[in-house]
Amino acid sequence: MKPVFEIKDVSYRYPDKKALSNINISIYPGDFLAIVGPNGSGKSTLLKLILGILNLQDGEILMNGTDIRKLNKRTGIGYVSQKANSASSGFPANVYEVVRSGLIQMKPIFQRFNKADDQKVEAILKRLHIEHLKHKNISELSGGQQQRVFIARALISNPSVLVLDEPTVGIDAKHVAEFYALLEQLKNEGITILLVTHDIGVVVDTATQVACLNEHLHFHGTTHQFKSLDEVEISKIYGHPVQF
Ligand code: ADP
Ligand code: MG
Repeated sequence: MKPVFEIKDVSYRYPDKKALSNINISIYPGDFLAIVGPNGSGKSTLLKLILGILNLQDGEILMNGTDIRKLNKRTGIGYVSQKANSASSGFPANVYEVVRSGLIQMKPIFQRFNKADDQKVEAILKRLHIEHLKHKNISELSGGQQQRVFIARALISNPSVLVLDEPTVGIDAKHVAEFYALLEQLKNEGITILLVTHDIGVVVDTATQVACLNEHLHFHGTTHQFKSLDEVEISKIYGHPVQF
């Protein structure tokens, strides 16, 4: 099977900070990769390089065999950014519009939304059980509800890959559990998932692969292999004790 992404020897430096050094990871169709590591360890930077939000400096990333620098559009990827989850400004006000805005990247500039788009919005709202929220302002929703809205926005273009950056921050345990059940369902539908998270204890029950970052790739393997790692070793990567 051909990898969806091949990350080859990727390094990245901000003007005054080295964020990533020599990262090598291959992600295959149907993988659910959990990317973990302490704050400031380069997790978001890696996702932004994959998504083309940041330009590659060193190394290479292939998407379905093609160098991403040759792709002018990134189709087939749904993205829930770290900021999206905090209902930051810049998004349209109501749930319906937020979800529909997920179609913008698929459209030629200035093309209006049409009836087929509205049907897609209705279908995805229903699929994520949030149709009753469609007229609400995003700021009126709970953290768990907002998160479903942003996932709906990412899924509306029917992507084969879903990329999420710390989507459960500020969400209570019950909704975190519901969220992982939803990811499990998407995984079972065949969607390839890349998830940056601090929910180590929870994510190992759903993910298939784990990558531990701290500028360098300290570990990359199956969830099963990760669970058998020495806790002292994982805690060293984190800089504080980590329990499962
Ligand atoms: P993580 O997502 O793991 O918390 P990031 O990838 O956001 O980490 O950041 C990695 C490192 O790069 C951190 O030290 C962070 O402060 C730094 N960094 C992130 N974004 C920028 C930026 N736009 N300019 C300068 N430094 C940055
Ligand atoms: Mg981050």
